[in-house]
Amino acid sequence: ILSVQKLKKSYSSGSRELTVLEDINFDIEENETFAIVGPSGSGKTTLLGLCAGLDQPDSGNIELCGTSINELNEDQRALLRNQKVGFVFQDFQLIPTLTALENVAVPLELRGDKNASQVGKELLDKVGLGDRFDHYPSQLSGGEQQRVALARAFSTKPAILFADEPTGNLDEETGKKVVELLIDLNTESGTTLVIVTHDMELAKKTQRILKLKGGRVLETVNV
Ligand code: ATP
Repeated sequence: ILSVQKLKKSYSSGSRELTVLEDINFDIEENETFAIVGPSGSGKTTLLGLCAGLDQPDSGNIELCGTSINELNEDQRALLRNQKVGFVFQDFQLIPTLTALENVAVPLELRGDKNASQVGKELLDKVGLGDRFDHYPSQLSGGEQQRVALARAFSTKPAILFADEPTGNLDEETGKKVVELLIDLNTESGTTLVIVTHDMELAKKTQRILKLKGGRVLETVNV
């Protein structure tokens, strides 16, 4: 479902060019659960964004759901993301003017789902926010916002879900619940999971772990 070949990415800051990822190669199969781990600054978030088509590499190829995303224009990439991809951002990116329920239901409504509100309520219930439907993001704690973001990402049952530190802001108990939800999504809907995490407990619940260091793949291990 995802194939990454000879990927390179650098950022320029002022007159300096900083290579963040170099010679990255890996494949992820459909239905697989996959973790990306590594020290802070090793390029995990950058790699996830490139894989999901949110950003462009300097060179190399990324094939996502059978399509080489480098060859798509911005609109085509947005369409592919819309149809097949879910993304949970490190900073959640909820819409501040919408309630928790609206944040989850609106993407479904836009797809013409007549039961959007009902599905949204069920998903929020599942992530333990059954009593927070009408709260705005600013009225929710970081961990609660993270769970709304997860519910939103689950709602469209994507073929592949990219999650950046999905348990990063959660206490141990809530973190465990979120991990269960992610694994359930994989088992029930066949969603491929690609998770960036510092949490080795979470990483060990996936099938394979890719270790990044200094922008290169150190190793990929089967769990
Ligand atoms: P963390 O675990 O701390 O979130 P990470 O492994 O996800 O880190 P990235 O966020 O991918 O790391 O960043 C990798 C490197 O690229 C860092 O050194 C960062 O400073 C740099 N970087 C990231 N985004 C940009 C940008 N837009 N412009 C310039 N440099 C950037």
